[in-house]
Amino acid sequence: EGNLLISRKSSPVHSSVALDQPRPQEIFDNMLEKKIDICFIGGIIMDMTSYMDAFPKPGETKVGHRFEAGYGGKAANQAALAAKLGAKCAMVARVGDDANGRSYIDHFRSLGINVNNIRTSDKSSTGAANIWVDDSGMNCICVILGANLDMTKQDILDAEDTIAASAAVVIGLELDIDIAHFAIQIAGKHKVQCLLNAAPMPKDMHEDFFCIPDVFNVNESEASIATGIAVTDAESAKLAARHLVEKKHCKTVIITLGENGAVFGSNDGAQFVHVPTDPVKAVDTTGAGDAFCGALAFFWAKYPDLPVETIVKKCCDVATMSVLKPGTQASFPSREELPEGFI
Ligand code: ATP
Repeated sequence: EGNLLISRKSSPVHSSVALDQPRPQEIFDNMLEKKIDICFIGGIIMDMTSYMDAFPKPGETKVGHRFEAGYGGKAANQAALAAKLGAKCAMVARVGDDANGRSYIDHFRSLGINVNNIRTSDKSSTGAANIWVDDSGMNCICVILGANLDMTKQDILDAEDTIAASAAVVIGLELDIDIAHFAIQIAGKHKVQCLLNAAPMPKDMHEDFFCIPDVFNVNESEASIATGIAVTDAESAKLAARHLVEKKHCKTVIITLGENGAVFGSNDGAQFVHVPTDPVKAVDTTGAGDAFCGALAFFWAKYPDLPVETIVKKCCDVATMSVLKPGTQASFPSREELPEGFI
């Protein structure tokens, strides 16, 4: 693996990103030649949600109101959004040899997502999130990562041609951290534009997680863990973004702030900028961060001529649309639902 380690100096394509300018022409040319727009590497999870008046106590059995199964998993949600906007997407992941896994692969096929690099594990179930929601809207969630943790370096090597053929690769952390690290190195080796959605955020991450990706995308709580700065609003998010650029050597940092929009900045030395969202009455914010990241991947891969600032505003708009409807992937807008001229 030694030859895969990318030092910051030799790190791919560009070292500095101007936020108000299109990305340099050589990046643009390189990206437009690619066969796949975005390759997503990360988690596939089936959400199993039970609704009940109150949570059962330990040892108690309750009869609830309603059950719903839904497609989830961060990277999978992001792939679904990018595909709904019209990107050519591929997924690198693992499912179990079970009904949930087969259902997920059929679902991806129906969205036009390339599933050639989704392997089936025989030793674990498809990832599952067991979600309880009580009548007050409070939830309790137990996530079983299952087959996602069976991903191996060989899975990444088997997908290397797909990664190299992609304009951008998005890596999430609902898998073994060493496999995610290996994926980042492979993306770096092929100089593919690399977006890291560092979620869930582990306590310790190798410096490559910060300095190799072209974009480091996290929410408030992940930014707090990564920096030790309590991120609660736009000002503290700017401090955290600056910390990630100056101390951790991230190239471009984007921190989402829920109803407060997002903050972004880069190593070009310019300002850290707050992009507010339009005020709306949210119906269900589940998956809003994935809607943002999927849109980010879409615009980053397909429109390298757009300034980062414009991209972040568009991502906020797409994510805000997703909070107006219930569900996760079901709430993600498709290209046809976007306002005229949005893309
Ligand atoms: P989740 O875990 O629910 O998927 P997250 O914490 O990863 O979300 P957030 O920062 O909450 O991500 O939200 C991502 C984006 O979604 C925000 O940047 C914003 O554009 C949009 N958004 C989220 N909540 C709201 C809201 N209440 N009103 C308007 N936009 C919202």
